[in-house]
Amino acid sequence: MNVYDSARMADVLAPLGYVRVDAADGADMVILNTCHIREKAAEKVYSELGRLRRLKAEKERTGRGMILAVAGCVAQAEGGEILRRAPFVDMVFGPQAFHRLPEMISRASRAGGAVLDTDFPAEPKFDHLPAPGKLEGYSAFLTVQEGCDKFCTFCVVPYTRGAEFSRPVAEVEAEARHLVAGGAREITLLGQNVNAYHGEGNDGDWGLGRLIARLAEIEGLERIRYTTSYPAEVDDALIGAHRDVPQLMPFLHLPVQSGADRILVAMNRRHTADDYRRLAGRLRHARPDLALSSDFIVGFPGETEADFEATLRLVEDVTFAQAYSFKYSPRPGTPAAALENQVPEKVKTERLARLQERLGAQQVAFNQGCVGRALPVLLDRQGRKPGQLVGRSPYMQAVHVEAPDHLLGSVMPLTIGAAHANSLSGALTGAFADERACA
Ligand code: SAH
Repeated sequence: MNVYDSARMADVLAPLGYVRVDAADGADMVILNTCHIREKAAEKVYSELGRLRRLKAEKERTGRGMILAVAGCVAQAEGGEILRRAPFVDMVFGPQAFHRLPEMISRASRAGGAVLDTDFPAEPKFDHLPAPGKLEGYSAFLTVQEGCDKFCTFCVVPYTRGAEFSRPVAEVEAEARHLVAGGAREITLLGQNVNAYHGEGNDGDWGLGRLIARLAEIEGLERIRYTTSYPAEVDDALIGAHRDVPQLMPFLHLPVQSGADRILVAMNRRHTADDYRRLAGRLRHARPDLALSSDFIVGFPGETEADFEATLRLVEDVTFAQAYSFKYSPRPGTPAAALENQVPEKVKTERLARLQERLGAQQVAFNQGCVGRALPVLLDRQGRKPGQLVGRSPYMQAVHVEAPDHLLGSVMPLTIGAAHANSLSGALTGAFADERACA
């Protein structure tokens, strides 16, 4: 989501003459687009600001200024504190305010002190954003939904990103067509709670399943993905899209967080561990080659050894091609941060290692299972070696292959020859030798 937002900020700034550069030193403006989801991410902001302060001073010595801005969810949650701790920052603005960047810049350059904009404006920012600029590569992000109304007790998202909002179908479709005309072969639909999508269509609200089916009609759009989903909101239409829409990739990131019902209740997740097992089964029934990815939190307040073992059991039962796992991180203002039965750091570390050992083994097994099979790979960049291209499998695995440059941007069937720790290697094949997936 932050990658998408950063690109859109660049689009807003382009008419003012700003172009993106690779390094901060010498830049006229530096925007840190920040994440508040866990403490570690939020802490990085202050250390990075220390470094940027020196670059800003150097730039000022040459007689030219540097506008220093903090954007995103840390700005939203801690705007005032940022200005106290880092008074050399010129602008602080939240994820709902970046369409007002031109106005903020003119206020900041009039040198009236720092500009703070962490409102949730009534007018949706999407109405004020220009069309996305030039695409790098062949895969694009498209935000269709923002915010979250679920209030998981560990999570800051409802406070930083605000209430759920869905963009109208016509607007999403127009942006998708623009992206495809600009070279996108793959679009990932984004939302903090993307399957809560209920955008205005020509005959009432449309859900995500129907939106996907509509986008699949766009000529030249070969792959559709969406992230991130909330299990209790996967509906029949979305499962139907996995069955009926071949462009929808058979890979789904579906965070479960825990396998213990007691903990899921304390997290306010609105699904049980068995609900998740059943949902995984229904999705795989609809699309037999579907593979799952997930998020896990270990050491949520009150989590016992038995609760943690229930999570390990769920991992064994469901099996994941890939997963992210985190130690519970208390976030200011969330209900779980105030609970007294916090789990000691040592226990969290030990549980995370055990969980990651299992998830890592499943990932290796999944990758190994791909060897000898043919997978369609979207070749999207040059490899490090001459004559080599790198692409993505349906399961987001990086695949290296010897292939000519003119195949960049094509989806090619590759026979997978070897699985490495974090990637696969393959060879071009004439046809699909084997349509089965590795799952
Ligand atoms: N729906 C969001 C979730 C983002 S957070 C999205 O757009 O992807 C991604 C993951 O971070 C969550 O699924 C959860 O596993 C983890 N997470 C969120 N809050 C956390 C916390 N307080 N401590 C540890 N992990 C957390």
